Amino acid sequence: MGAGGMSNASKAHMGRVAQLPCACCGAHGVHVHHIREGQGMSQRASDFLTVPLCPDCHTGPLGVHGDKTLMRIRKLSELDMLAETIRMLTDSRVRAFDGA
Ligand SMILES: [Zn+2]
Ligand SMILES: [Zn+2]
Repeated sequence: MGAGGMSNASKAHMGRVAQLPCACCGAHGVHVHHIREGQGMSQRASDFLTVPLCPDCHTGPLGVHGDKTLMRIRKLSELDMLAETIRMLTDSRVRAFDGA
């Protein structure tokens, strides 16, 4: 598979991330943010390197695209939030099996 373009798998993954609560504060109603940690600013991160962030934690003045105060007070890096996102996705999968 070539680079560029959105695969169905990455679209489906981002759809699942969009259902999660904010990885920073737990609020519902999130945007899907591509993490920038360890990347050049011009490079777009993989659609699998995405975290759910509420509007405040995402594009608000104290959010990830602002001065990152909301991340700092919780001592969270973008990689911490990515780990939390993976944990939440794994948990919801486990719960789905339990309920079946
Ligand atoms: Zn938030
Ligand atoms: Zn973003």
